[in-house]
Amino acid sequence: AKIGGRAQTRFFDVTMTRDLVRRREIEDELRQAIQRDELSIFFQPIVDLETGRIRSFEALVRWFHPEKGELRPDEFIPVAEESGVIVTLGNWITAQAARTAAQWPEDVTVAVNLSPLQIRAPGAALGILNALREAGLPASRLELEVTESLFIEDSDATALFIEELSAKGVRFALDDFGTGYSSLGYINSYPFKKIKVDRSFVSGPNVGLKSDAIIRAVAEMGSTLEMEIVAEGLETIEQVQAVRDAGCTLGQGYYFSRAVPDYLAAMLLSRERET
Ligand code: C2E
Ligand code: CA
Ligand code: CA
Ligand code: CA
Repeated sequence: AKIGGRAQTRFFDVTMTRDLVRRREIEDELRQAIQRDELSIFFQPIVDLETGRIRSFEALVRWFHPEKGELRPDEFIPVAEESGVIVTLGNWITAQAARTAAQWPEDVTVAVNLSPLQIRAPGAALGILNALREAGLPASRLELEVTESLFIEDSDATALFIEELSAKGVRFALDDFGTGYSSLGYINSYPFKKIKVDRSFVSGPNVGLKSDAIIRAVAEMGSTLEMEIVAEGLETIEQVQAVRDAGCTLGQGYYFSRAVPDYLAAMLLSRERET
């Protein structure tokens, strides 16, 4: 039993070390990835469910690693957050996204995801305004997507950040709505223009009468409070019809398009505007 126990301990040590090594690798390499041009921003259309037209694109970061291949943000964003690299990375993402969006028609906006750490970094609001100015993009064409995790340590810095940028015309969207706690309180306290209903309400084991009723209630609230309600993760025409019937105004998901490189985003827009 003693030997078995020891063997087990060693087994766990090995896996833990391997995970740690990989995290460490990712952390080190992430710092260099920007300079090496391994990161790029992809854009996923957000579509008006009434007209079918593209109203905005969400910027989603991709990392094409020379050895590890394509890494998804779920794998490296948490590492970037823990190590603090997210501040540099986030600034780069915002700048890139703003530059790309400046090429689009004036009525098309860009949505950028923000990590809580980015907001707490000193000069965060200024950094975003600088990125907009350098890109020549009006503040009203930038949307910042934040999740409820931002408010867990409800600091004055967060409130100030949102107030300062809202005053300049930047819009805020509450992302992954329905996956956290007491979201209604946040909607009451902050000037959100948009709510993105999490994809778990659209597909998966928990979809049914209840989830449908919840989406309806959220859409009802959205129309009263003049907030747009986005349904995420739409993969089928049935899902699109269901959320439109429920009162969502915007949709996003593979049914319309995956996230695509900037030149394809531009092509989607010009194709739509030719007709
Ligand atoms: P998110 O903000 O909820 O982004 C939506 C995710 O759902 C994206 O995954 C998108 O590709 C995926 N998705 C879109 N439509 C569908 C669909 O129809 N079906 C399914 N199954 N999935 C769909 P992605 O690009 O892997 O990003 C994952 C998460 O990583 C994002 O979730 C966001 O939290 C984070 N992330 C991505 N880019 C950034 C970034 O630039 N900065 C920060 N801070 N976080 C980012
Ligand atoms: Ca998002
Ligand atoms: Ca989301
Ligand atoms: Ca998310």
